Amino acid sequence: LQARRDGMPIVRFDATMAAKASGRLALAGRLRQALERQEFELFFQPIRRLRDGHAMSLEALLRWRQPDGSFVPTAQFIPLCEESGLIVPLGEWVLEEAARCHGRLVAQDHAGMAIAVNVSAVQFLSETLPQSLRKLREAHGLPRGALQLELTESVVLRRPDAAREAMGELRNEGVCISIDDFGTGFSSMAYLKDLPLDFLKIDRAFVADVHLDKRNAAICSALIALGHGLGLKIIAEGVESDAQRQWLLAQGCDQAQGFLFGRPAPLEEVMASMRQNGGAN
Ligand code: C2E
Ligand code: MG
Ligand code: MG
Ligand code: MG
Repeated sequence: LQARRDGMPIVRFDATMAAKASGRLALAGRLRQALERQEFELFFQPIRRLRDGHAMSLEALLRWRQPDGSFVPTAQFIPLCEESGLIVPLGEWVLEEAARCHGRLVAQDHAGMAIAVNVSAVQFLSETLPQSLRKLREAHGLPRGALQLELTESVVLRRPDAAREAMGELRNEGVCISIDDFGTGFSSMAYLKDLPLDFLKIDRAFVADVHLDKRNAAICSALIALGHGLGLKIIAEGVESDAQRQWLLAQGCDQAQGFLFGRPAPLEEVMASMRQNGGAN
């Protein structure tokens, strides 16, 4: 990257960039068929109450399986789905599958466990979401609180009034709302104050080494106090060590999620490990 005399950068479109661009194009093409070919699946990761380790909910995480059994990183293909609009039908599929999986939880005596679903801005702001959630609830007999939707701050910042209204409608439908990756999106406190929310999820970046890193510790304790002050429950993301868990517990953080408590896995495996832990989840 060089600067032109007038200050505008000259972008050299070199071979690597071309390869990257055509890689993206190829990926976008394959994504379009992936939904029809049923190549997507959901993995689940437990979210546990810190006080006693009880599994409160499972976060549904989308996986795209390749013919060789490998997975394309989710953070890589989601943006492509958002650009192409595929995220709308794909998001509907995720919700439908999550509702089906909730039914399997109920059948296994985990009726109180919620499923958390990530929702993109485009999908969230599409006018059909409350209606499709209502249909889903009726079709699957979902109890109130069975589904939690995870939204990022960007959704709110993009269209604050529309977001607030949609959140209110969804909560009337019995759906809980979380702000995901909290702290990474320059949320405005003016918006946050007025939103009908249930959970704040502290981004993994701040939870990393929170017991050692003074700056992360300052941010996490401030976010816990902020959330509690607003009447919200706090979930810490990316907890990998027992030292992190102990620090968060001592600070009054409500729930946590991370490799320490379980890696994302197919529902069957998650339920099997819950059974092994003897009903205590
Ligand atoms: P997210 O919602 O913040 O999900 C948490 C991510 O952190 C997941 O990555 C999870 O596998 C990973 N993770 C969990 N615990 C740990 C840990 O202890 N350490 C580390 N290093 N990582 C941990 P994943 O599954 O690759 O998903 C990436 C992102 O893709 C998600 O971030 C979410 O924003 C998006 N995503 C996933 N599924 C969906 C979906 O169904 N719809 C939409 N719109 N987005 C989705
Ligand atoms: Mg999430
Ligand atoms: Mg997150
Ligand atoms: Mg995150």
